Amino acid sequence: MQKISPADPKASYLAAQADIDAAIRRVMLSGHYILGHEGEAFEKEFSAWLGTPGTVGVANGTDAIELALHAAGIGPGDKVVTVANTVTATVSAIVATGAKPVFVDVEPGTMLLDVAALETMLTTVRDPKIKAVVPVHLYGLAVDMPRLMALAARHNLFVMEDCAQAHGSLVGGRKAGTWGPLATFSYYPTKNLGAFGDAGAVTGTDPALLDQVRLLRQYGWRKRYISDLNGRNSRLDELQAAILRVRLTRLDAENQRRNAMAGQYLAALKDTPLQLPVLAEGRTHTWHQFVVRTPQRDELQAHLAKQDILCGVLYPVPIHRQPAYHDASLSLPHTEQACTEVLSLPLHPGLTDEDIDRVVREVKGFFG
Ligand SMILES: *Cc1c(COP(=O)(O)O)cnc(C)c1O
Repeated sequence: MQKISPADPKASYLAAQADIDAAIRRVMLSGHYILGHEGEAFEKEFSAWLGTPGTVGVANGTDAIELALHAAGIGPGDKVVTVANTVTATVSAIVATGAKPVFVDVEPGTMLLDVAALETMLTTVRDPKIKAVVPVHLYGLAVDMPRLMALAARHNLFVMEDCAQAHGSLVGGRKAGTWGPLATFSYYPTKNLGAFGDAGAVTGTDPALLDQVRLLRQYGWRKRYISDLNGRNSRLDELQAAILRVRLTRLDAENQRRNAMAGQYLAALKDTPLQLPVLAEGRTHTWHQFVVRTPQRDELQAHLAKQDILCGVLYPVPIHRQPAYHDASLSLPHTEQACTEVLSLPLHPGLTDEDIDRVVREVKGFFG
C-alpha cells in the first residue's frame, strides 16, 4: 500500500516541474540571487492576487509577524493578544518584538479566536498595555474579521492578521490579509502557497508601515550602506521568489481541488462519531488542514498509521502549556480541549479521490 502523508510538497513540484525548472534556471543564469527582479515581480503579483496595495517579501512567516509588529511600533512594555492553539511561531514572533503575548480562548466550534471573549477581556480588565491583536486564520478558515475590526476600532488596537494558513480564505467575499493595516503570510513548503525553502511576506494597506518593513528586512537601509533604522537581515531570495511566481499561478486551482476533497470527506464521514469541521456562514475555507475531532484521537491516529495513512496533529499542546511559555495560572478550556481531540486527515493537491476514499474506509473501519 502506498503511504498517504499529511503533506506532499514534492507532488506540487512534479505537477509544475517544467515551469519550476525553467524558473530556477532563469535565476541561476541571471547572476542575481537576492532582492532582485523575481522578488519584485512576485511582490507585485501576490499583491494583485490578494487585492492589496503592497507586499514585502521576507525570509519566513515568523520574521514577517515580528517585522510587521515592530513596524507598527509594538515593543517592550506592550502586550499583544493572540490564541494558544497556533504554531509556536506566532507567539515567538510576538516575544521577539519585546512585547508580551496574552492569550484569549477560542470558539468551541470553529476553534478560532473568540471575539466575544476578547471583548470581555478588554472591557473587564482593560489593560492599557494591550496594543495589538494577532488573529490566526487557522486551518484555512478566517476569523470573524468584521466583528474583530469593529471591536479593535472601539479599543484602539492594531490588527495584524496571521495568514500563514489562509492563502485565499474569504470573509464576506473579502480575502484574509486585507482587513488590517498589515498582515503576514508564510510560504513554508507545506502551506497552500509554498516555496521550496523558507519564505514569507508582509502585506498591507498602509504604505508608510510597509515602507518600514521594507527597511527593516535589510539592515534598515533605504540607501545602500546607510541605516535609517536598526533593521536586520530577513530577505527573500530570488530562487524562492521565482518558484513562488510559478506556484501562485496554480494556487486558485489547487484551493479548488482542496475544496473538492473536503467536500468528499464531509459527505462520506457525516454518519461517523467524528466531529467534522465547522463551516462559518459567509466564509470560504481553503482547507490548509481538514481537522476532525474525537476523544479517541490518539487511537484513531495510531490505527490509520498502521494502514500507512499518516495524520498531523495541529496542535498537540497549547502554547501556554509548553515549557518555554508555561503559565500554570492560565486556563483556556476550549483551547485545551481542542488540543486533545484534533486530528488532520490527509488533504493536499497530491492526493486522488481514491486516496480520500481509502482514508474514509479506514476511518469507518476504526469506528466499526
Ligand atoms: C507556518 C506558520 C507560521 C510560521 O511560518 P514560518 O514560515 O514557518 O516561519 C506562523 N503562523 C502560522 C499560523 C503558521 O501556520
